[in-house]
This record gives sequence, C-alpha cells and structure tokens, in this order.
Amino acid sequence: MSSATSSSSNRVAVIGGGPAGLMAAEVICRAGLAVDVYEAKPSCGRKFLVAGRGGLNLTHAESREQLLSRYQADDPGNILANAIRPFDAAAIRMWAAELGVETIVGSSQRVFPSDLKALPLLSRWQRRLIAHGVQIHTQHRWTNWQPDRLQLELDTPSGPVVREASAVVLATGGGSWKKLGSDGAWTSLLTDHGVDVAALQPSNCGFEIDWSPHFRQRHAGTPLKSVVLRFEHSERQFQRRGDLMITDSGLEGSLIYAASALLRQAIHETGTARITLDLTPDRTAEQVLQRLQKRGSQSVSTLLKKRLRLRSVHTGLLREVLPAGFGTTDQLADTLKSLPLTLTGTRPIDEAISTAGGVRLTACNEHLMINALPGVFCAGEMLDWEAPTGGYLLTACLATGRRAGQGVLRWLSQTADRPRDESTENHPDG
Ligand SMILES: Cc1cc2nc3c(=O)[nH]c(=O)nc-3n(C[C@H](O)[C@H](O)[C@H](O)COP(=O)(O)OP(=O)(O)OC[C@H]3O[C@@H](n4cnc5c(N)ncnc54)[C@H](O)[C@@H]3O)c2cc1C
Repeated sequence: MSSATSSSSNRVAVIGGGPAGLMAAEVICRAGLAVDVYEAKPSCGRKFLVAGRGGLNLTHAESREQLLSRYQADDPGNILANAIRPFDAAAIRMWAAELGVETIVGSSQRVFPSDLKALPLLSRWQRRLIAHGVQIHTQHRWTNWQPDRLQLELDTPSGPVVREASAVVLATGGGSWKKLGSDGAWTSLLTDHGVDVAALQPSNCGFEIDWSPHFRQRHAGTPLKSVVLRFEHSERQFQRRGDLMITDSGLEGSLIYAASALLRQAIHETGTARITLDLTPDRTAEQVLQRLQKRGSQSVSTLLKKRLRLRSVHTGLLREVLPAGFGTTDQLADTLKSLPLTLTGTRPIDEAISTAGGVRLTACNEHLMINALPGVFCAGEMLDWEAPTGGYLLTACLATGRRAGQGVLRWLSQTADRPRDESTENHPDG
C-alpha cells in the first residue's frame, strides 16, 4: 500500500463518529488524552440526525431495572447492564443538560430534547469535543489494520494513510441504512483477526407478507392503529397493543418492530411466523359477536363500519383470510379477535432501524476491550445486543461508548508508556 505513514502512538483513535464513538472520544479527551476521531462520511452522526426526524428519542424514563430488561444479549458477564447502569436515562438527561439541551419526558416515558431536534445537540456536542482538543477527521475510512501494532490504514481524500494509536475504539455502527455510513463492512476486519462476530441481522424491522394484489394496491401505506399483536414461539410469548403500517411487502411500525427479535428467530427456525391481530381490542369476543348478529340486510363492510367502527382496511384484511362472503358470523367474529397472518421473511437489513449481531460480548472483557486484541475496544450498535425502539438504542450506544472510553483510560494507565497530553500539538492532517 502506498501511503503516508505517521507515527502518532501517543494518540487514541476512535473509528466512527456516531453517538458511541463521540461519547468514547468525550470520556478520553476529558481525561486529558489526545483523541482522533476517524469518520468515513463527510460529517459525523448522520444516523443520529436521521433519528432526529422522529424527535430524537434519546432514552426512556422508566425504572432502571425495567430499562435494563429491554435488552437482549448473550452476556453472561452482564457487560451491557454494567455499562448502562451508571449511564441510564437520568444520567443521559443530565449529560444533555450540560450541553445546554433540555429534555422532556413524553406520555409514554420516552425522553426527547425539548425542541425535538438532533442537530442542535450534535452541533453543541461536536463543538465541545473540538474545544477539548478532539480532532475529527471526516472522509477517513478505516480499510485495514494491524491490530497487534494498533496500526490503522485509512482511505482519505488525499489517498491512503497509516496511523498508529495508543489504543483504538471501534464504533462503526451496525449494518442498516448504509447510506448513513454504518455498512457492516468492518466485520471481516475483525473476523480475519479471530474476533467472534455474530452475523448481522435486521432488528426493529419490517416483515414480509404475501398480500393479494388487490389488497396491496388498495391498502399499502394505510396505518392500522391500536391493534393487539400476539405471537408465540419456543415457549416465549409476545402480546402488545400498538400501531402498524400496511406496506407493499407486509407490515412495518413500532408494534411489529417490538416483536422483531422473536419473529426473526421463528422465521429462522421454521421458515415462517404466524401472528394474530386483535382488530377490536376494546370489545370482548361476545360483544363483537352480539354486534355482528344485528346485521339485517347490511353488507359486511357497512356492518363493520357502523357496528364496530372499523374501516375499509380492516374489511380488506378479513377478505385476505376468510372465504368469499366472510364465512359465518361466528367465523367473522373470531377472525376480528384473532386475525391470522403469515410472515414469510424480514425486510432487508438496510431498511431496518437497527442491527442485531455484531462483536459478541463474550469476545470482550468487562471494559469492552476485545480479549483477542489488547488495546482495541468496541462500542455501540456494532456490539451484539438488541433492543426495541423507545430510546433504548441510543441509551446503549452512549453508555457503551462511555464504558469503552473509560476502558481505554484504565488500560493506558496500566501500560508502562502512558501517553502525555499532546492534544494541542499539530496533527499531521489535523
Ligand atoms: C430511521 C432511524 C431512526 C432512529 N431513531 C432512533 C431513536 O429515536 N432513538 C434511538 O434510541 N435510536 C434510534 N435509532 C437508532 C440509532 O440511531 C442507532 O442505534 C445509533 O445511531 C447507533 O450509534 P453508533 O454510534 O453505534 O453507530 P452509528 O450511528 O451508525 O455511527 C457509526 C459511524 O461509524 C462510521 N463508520 C462506519 N464504518 C466506518 C469505517 N470503516 N471507517 C470510518 N468510519 C466508519 C459511520 O459512517 C458512522 O458515522 C434510529 C435509527 C434509524 C435508522
């Protein structure tokens, strides 16, 4: 590789300028160490900014133990919980307040910046990091490395460069929404060096259903509000009320995202997942039957509209699963309470809100250093954990970024050649 090599082994390298990487950089620079953030894209935090389109659900104000129960991970050492416990919702709100960003708690306990925007928070955060001496190198893509020497190869606008670091934090994100930067290309850079990485899979994702052409044409893009989704697999049950969105290819929306881990497992193990929807969760089966029996000469769609306040999308769904003419009144009532739908697959990972899989927590020590690669730490969505939407994703990314940053400080303090603060020195491409 023809490249400019610079030895900067007294600087910590953070790869990835998302929330996890920026948080690691913050912890390290606040301890007085010199930090370089290498970000592949022309700017940092692109996924964070996209999260801002939904108001930026930063965290969730439920009790800490409830919050911790939302995460799924193969984590016998409780590494994730130990990272989140000291940086839970209250700590995140305080951190945002220190940046001058007040937060509000919504009716569902979700926490948002009071202006519901991500850009002001991200701008203030980056300004503070730069003021602390962090050097952010955008358009610096990590392409290869020699982890035993903590030597990184990076593609930059002026060609490839090699940088050495005193420690490395990897925070390159998951594998969804590739256009925002986290493309999962890092997996082979780790597996090639013996790191145990679980295959990246879509999480908080849509699912495919083989709708009839008529239903697809008529109802794709229609919301389906306040239904109860039930699903059971492998002795685990999911039951929750919420909103869905009918799409061309199946279902999207927060309700199905919340069930995505179990649904994905079922599809992986059995090829499909059969969910049921209760379209009338505020009425008992008896009440529904009673209302349907007073039919008179009305059509079924008029009956559903007048007696049960259901819309054409509900009638369309019933048509998808019932025989022509909607079957008997009993059948119709049963189906309204338990409409079966067969999910045939997940939507592609690129469309998912987040990613399951990644660097296994069992491959890391409690400070998020990769056991096989001394001096290399991991944070954020590239670690193998998953959680529903609701602020849990950013919470874990920020908390593991902080934990990895602290791990770097601890590790460097234990090595003989702890670097001095040279954050004010000129960096070769700073
Ligand atoms: C539409 C959408 C809405 C969301 N809304 C919310 C929400 O409201 N609340 C919530 O909690 N979560 C939300 N999330 C999820 C949340 O944004 C992510 O979990 C979080 O951004 C992950 O942080 P991260 O730092 O681990 O990775 P990322 O934010 O993905 O950052 C990783 C960074 O690493 C860079 N990178 C990757 N590879 C390289 C490389 N080889 N070299 C250099 N740099 C590299 C990328 O360009 C990127 O900037 C949302 C996600 C999406 C897609």
